Amino acid sequence: MGALVTSLRQAAAEPSLSVDLGAVAANTRRFVSLARGEVMAVVKADGFGHGLGDVARTAAAAGATWIGVTSLAEAVAVRESGVDVPVLSWLNPVDADVRTAVRYGIDLSVPSLHHLAVIEQAGPVRVHLQLDTGMARDGASPDSWLALMSAARRAELAGKISVVGVMGHLPCADTPGANATGRRALLRGVEMARQAGLRPAVRHLAATSAALTDPSSHLDVVRIGAGLVGIDPSGTTRLRSALRLTAPVVQVRRVEAGSGVGYGHSYVTERATTLALLPVGYADGLPRAASGRAEVFLGGRRRPVAGVISMDQVVADVGDDAVAPGDEAVVFGAGDDGEPTVEDWARWAGTIPHEIVTGIGARVRRNVR
Ligand SMILES: *Cc1c(COP(=O)(O)O)cnc(C)c1O
Repeated sequence: MGALVTSLRQAAAEPSLSVDLGAVAANTRRFVSLARGEVMAVVKADGFGHGLGDVARTAAAAGATWIGVTSLAEAVAVRESGVDVPVLSWLNPVDADVRTAVRYGIDLSVPSLHHLAVIEQAGPVRVHLQLDTGMARDGASPDSWLALMSAARRAELAGKISVVGVMGHLPCADTPGANATGRRALLRGVEMARQAGLRPAVRHLAATSAALTDPSSHLDVVRIGAGLVGIDPSGTTRLRSALRLTAPVVQVRRVEAGSGVGYGHSYVTERATTLALLPVGYADGLPRAASGRAEVFLGGRRRPVAGVISMDQVVADVGDDAVAPGDEAVVFGAGDDGEPTVEDWARWAGTIPHEIVTGIGARVRRNVR
């Protein structure tokens, strides 16, 4: 019975996502060798859609000496995946369970006096003061730094916290030359911390773009998320893509010239042609906004996706070529054979690759290599 169910499932038409951890390892090693200091592997959002535990273990084995996440639940999952390097969680709500952080040996960011007051109740815990270095997003705003530093020093003297780091984030790291302001702000914050009597060992500011383009931003640790999974927002470096999404052809039909395809007939065939149906759609992470531009790789070359992307299916126009049910279409991959890449899909949809890789649907079967 089990075998029957398995073979039925394998024969069933379903999209499949393969994750190449060798690519993650190669990308990690690249950042380890270019960084002036250490590398923190940022594995939030399920390791950018590649699997949190897999990416954390792979990156740590390839030389990352820190792991970064945006919730305590993710931090605990990193620990439970067997990784024992320091783990930092930021974006924690004020009522985050600090005792869990202490129990699992997790560092917490401190973005406000309010967070500090709650954290020190449950310490002792290792913290990183998180400063807003120019984004008006997360982190303490500059007018609160002085008060935050002195409160942190008092809590440290009382044995409630240990300030191990000071962190900022760069708003315009993809723009050449735009990091100086953020860097100056962070270093000013570090100086204030020292004057308050704190001795933070690690200063960290740069993410993927700045790590690739601006060594002066590296400081003690660079926090790398996108780059580990092969995304280079700076457009300067060729990294290795780790995801390959495929789908089998489930049906093939020959149509006449002038046939409207899919909802709304946004695509009308110009001549008699062959259409191949693929069981993958926007519920699986293909952005509907890519309709009209998207392509898939099938039968040896790229084919236009005909009509709008549906929830569960798309149609590829293969012209007069022979394509049969069971043939495999590549939705995206590393691009080595001419197949579309995650970057292509992002461009077609008017978004960034990060949104494509973190948006793969839960029902897509995954296999990890
Ligand atoms: C997500 C995140 C990172 C990683 O950024 P990438 O550009 O994906 O490398 C670094 N720092 C902070 C604060 C983040 O939220």
